Amino acid sequence: MKIETKQKWDEWKEKLLDVLYPRHIKCIFCGEELNEKSINDTCEKCFNELPFLHHVCKRCGAPIRDNNDGVCLNCKENNFDFSLARSVFAYDEMIVKVVHKYKYGGMKFLYEPLGDFLCDYFSTWDIAPDIVTAVPLYKAKEKSRGYNQSKLMAKLIAKKFSIPYYDLCVKVKDNVSQTELDLKKRKQNVKDVYEFDTKYRSIIKDKTILLIDDVYTTGSTSSEVSRILKHAKAKEIYVLTLAHGLGDNKLEYDKDKKEKTLKNN
Ligand SMILES: [Zn+2]
Ligand SMILES: [Zn+2]
Repeated sequence: MKIETKQKWDEWKEKLLDVLYPRHIKCIFCGEELNEKSINDTCEKCFNELPFLHHVCKRCGAPIRDNNDGVCLNCKENNFDFSLARSVFAYDEMIVKVVHKYKYGGMKFLYEPLGDFLCDYFSTWDIAPDIVTAVPLYKAKEKSRGYNQSKLMAKLIAKKFSIPYYDLCVKVKDNVSQTELDLKKRKQNVKDVYEFDTKYRSIIKDKTILLIDDVYTTGSTSSEVSRILKHAKAKEIYVLTLAHGLGDNKLEYDKDKKEKTLKNN
């Protein structure tokens, strides 16, 4: 497709999506009309069903049960290069659906309500980053998608909290999707894939960085980007993602959710 044709097509697609999914009018989860009780373009009913994370691993933010000693198995067995990671939601069905619409359905406008959920979390998190950045996409992928979903949300946070945003890293290799790989393969898969953009060398020195990504799965991507930033002399890296994959916690998570639903009904 010619560049101009693609641009026209993208504009047209965005207009069509605006008609189908008008912003700030319909709930981003169920499509019901919003009212004054709605929060972040989410109706009251869906908001009450959102899988906010409460009991989490104090290091990586994974959902864990109350009786756990505070650190998940993944963190006990692995050394990550970030200081702390946190996620707003558990990556359960409801979030999977909306993230897929955002990433693969061309619904770019979702960066705003989803980014607002990140902003809400960030405002309660006791950290003071000097710089916001996002996990980069491979250039060709970003071009075909039209946007980097993590970057759009990161820029929203940066703007709202008046923190500078920089694309500190670039993705230099297009690796296979992490989705189907186990932890060991994921670690190999992200190796030599990201690079620090050396033009930010003087800016990053001794700075605290907030790194934004969409979904935290095993921590390999966040840790690898953090390693590169630390190597470039950043002081500390905090990771904030929209959702935390359930992995081995899925059974426990589903059980807790079932109990909660039974209690509420
Ligand atoms: Zn709804
Ligand atoms: Zn953990």
